[in-house]
Amino acid sequence: MAETTDVAIIGGGVAGCAVAFYLAQSGVKSTIIEREGVGNQASGYSAGGLNPLTGIGIPGPLGAFGWESFQLHLGLYDGLKEQSGIDYQNRTVAKIDLALEESDLEGLRASVALFEGVEGFEARWLEPEEIAKLEPRISPAVLGGVYAYGNNAVDSYNFTKALAAAAEKMGSTVRAGNVRGLESSGGKVDRVVLADGEISCGQVVMAMGPWSRRAESWLGVYIPVDPLKGEIIRLENRGEPFRHDISGGGGTIYPKLDGLNWCGTTEDWKGYDREPSGQAAHEIRQRVARLVPDLADARLVKHTACLRPVTPDWLPVLGRAPGWENVYLATGAGKKGILLAPGIGRSIADLMTTGETALSIQGYSPERFATQID
Ligand SMILES: Cc1cc2nc3c(=O)[nH]c(=O)nc-3n(C[C@H](O)[C@H](O)[C@H](O)COP(=O)(O)OP(=O)(O)OC[C@H]3O[C@@H](n4cnc5c(N)ncnc54)[C@H](O)[C@@H]3O)c2cc1C
Repeated sequence: MAETTDVAIIGGGVAGCAVAFYLAQSGVKSTIIEREGVGNQASGYSAGGLNPLTGIGIPGPLGAFGWESFQLHLGLYDGLKEQSGIDYQNRTVAKIDLALEESDLEGLRASVALFEGVEGFEARWLEPEEIAKLEPRISPAVLGGVYAYGNNAVDSYNFTKALAAAAEKMGSTVRAGNVRGLESSGGKVDRVVLADGEISCGQVVMAMGPWSRRAESWLGVYIPVDPLKGEIIRLENRGEPFRHDISGGGGTIYPKLDGLNWCGTTEDWKGYDREPSGQAAHEIRQRVARLVPDLADARLVKHTACLRPVTPDWLPVLGRAPGWENVYLATGAGKKGILLAPGIGRSIADLMTTGETALSIQGYSPERFATQID
């Protein structure tokens, strides 16, 4: 018998799984089609930071949606953990941003204001002596820094798996498969064509992350999402675990609950190259050793590389595909896809089930890249 589904979701990263989860909560069953295993791309290998107050587009066009997504994360954790049986370890973190050069001081001091008056957050300037008390292994050469409390962090692989598992418990399906194209009639997609068969569907969600451009020729629509490679090295910890995320000079140290210091990250436009590179590992280590000299020769336990889905304006692409009745795009979350996932899932599910959403996605419509391909 031919396979059928109400909604075919192409891509089992955090975006696709979040859409499946929120659709299921609204009573709509879907099929996630994933060719390399749920969460096995960037969604599984990210740093897992939920930082709603800083980053590209924040404050700015990503600010309101980032904050809404952060609030959704806070409300989601206990229930999703219980429903899925997967603890993805959502926790609040404290961070120290360090000034290594005189030229870092002004911007860092000014950044304290971003946290002022925001519920659940606090920040203050630290002199070098205070830094030495908080984290004695930080280099004595630092000029000062900012303590910031309130960001959260998750294990993003388990978060992605939890969304998929909860959707499955509500009647959705995860299916292994490599989508090769779409069959359509009269402005509607009728079938998803896989390497090993076809699935008839009522609606389609394209959540293909950095591979989203592949669907341009299927839909005749521009989806300018390009892969930005990022690498993380995980270093063995010696001594007491750090109690803060530590960053500065382009390097960041995330002490994780697995006992390792995840250090990163790089940003390279190298097409679809996903090979961890010795050069990147060397650069990351040099940067983090300026923050904590002890890490210069710490044992490398694991090194990963994966691809962020980035658009020309660094904003996601969310909404109905121009010219199509039943196709939705959920992609382009760039460096913030784990933070934004609940907002992506909720807003796309809202649009598909009610035609509108209260979330602040107005600037993210696929139409902004306008022109259809002939
Ligand atoms: C080093 C690094 C650190 C990061 N740190 C953070 C962070 O701290 N906080 C944060 O918020 N974000 C972070 N990110 C960004 C975040 O990881 C991404 O924005 C997010 O994972 C993108 O999710 P996605 O579902 O859109 O894409 P992906 O995770 O890439 O998922 C897309 C999926 O689609 C599948 N697919 C594609 N084409 C097909 C097809 N034809 N058929 C079947 N399946 C297909 C792929 O196999 C893939 O699994 C980081 C990223 C990197 C690289």
